[in-house]
Amino acid sequence: MEKINPMKNITHKVDLELREKIQKIKHVALDMDGTIYKGSTLFPFTIPFLNRLRQAGINYSFLTNNPSKSTEDYLKRLREMGISATKEEMYTSAQATIAYIKNNHPEVKRLFLLGTPSMVMEFEAAGFVSVADSAEDRPDMVVVGFDTSLVYSRLCRASWWVQQGLPYIATNPDKVCPTDQPTVLVDCGSICASIEQATGRKPDVVIGKPDPRMLDGILERYHLHPSEVAMVGDRLYTDIRMAQNAKTLGVLVLTGEATLEDIVTTGIEPDVVAHNIETFGDMLIDEREISRDTGRRDAKSCVSTMRQQK
Ligand SMILES: [Mg+2]
Repeated sequence: MEKINPMKNITHKVDLELREKIQKIKHVALDMDGTIYKGSTLFPFTIPFLNRLRQAGINYSFLTNNPSKSTEDYLKRLREMGISATKEEMYTSAQATIAYIKNNHPEVKRLFLLGTPSMVMEFEAAGFVSVADSAEDRPDMVVVGFDTSLVYSRLCRASWWVQQGLPYIATNPDKVCPTDQPTVLVDCGSICASIEQATGRKPDVVIGKPDPRMLDGILERYHLHPSEVAMVGDRLYTDIRMAQNAKTLGVLVLTGEATLEDIVTTGIEPDVVAHNIETFGDMLIDEREISRDTGRRDAKSCVSTMRQQK
């Protein structure tokens, strides 16, 4: 078996096939924590990186598995860090779940939601009805999210509907949400594990990274082919695994969780390993300029060939 050399792509000597892949990129999907900021501290190179992308005509989205905050909440957080982003540039697993339900279960309108008030509002704004905690108020589907406002009776009611065989979807697979506080933030995957213990059922579908459906809404929104998207993140088993599943370019940055050693131990190999988004930005812009110059040269030689033929 060929040995993985994690240092291979960290140099600027990228191979031809990879360079062609990078030259095709029209959109950069950015993981948030560990990629554009760490905890509550924005990386100093984030805003210059975003400005460079904008100047080069490359769109970007901010992507998060965490559905506990609404798009508005995230935009406010980004604004406080100095990033002015639009609603269209923000994409959470709640939005991906809404897109999935609308595309695959258009008949579903009434949901039993296990989620924060922000998440419930997001589903209601998308046209769904959030049913009450009552055996008489039968939903069409159960949706479980990272419910930081979890109420025991609602967990029991969700389990009841799951036991009745209703379609059952989870917004994200994360077992815990990272925190620097002295606590464990029990995430959606662990709430689903509790329902599974009680009912014997796992969710029918789990959206959120590494599920490639997390990117479907972005592909639709910007009319993109997966080969035109770079997924940039700091985790191999979510960000890079999703890039592989969705057949986009997978870019690992070393500013968060994963290390070069992790690539060897997990066997999850990104297309590109960059120290941070700034170095990836350099690579992206350089390759676009090379591609544009080559295009100009080819066009010139084409014109001169046509002249010679006349
Ligand atoms: Mg991250």
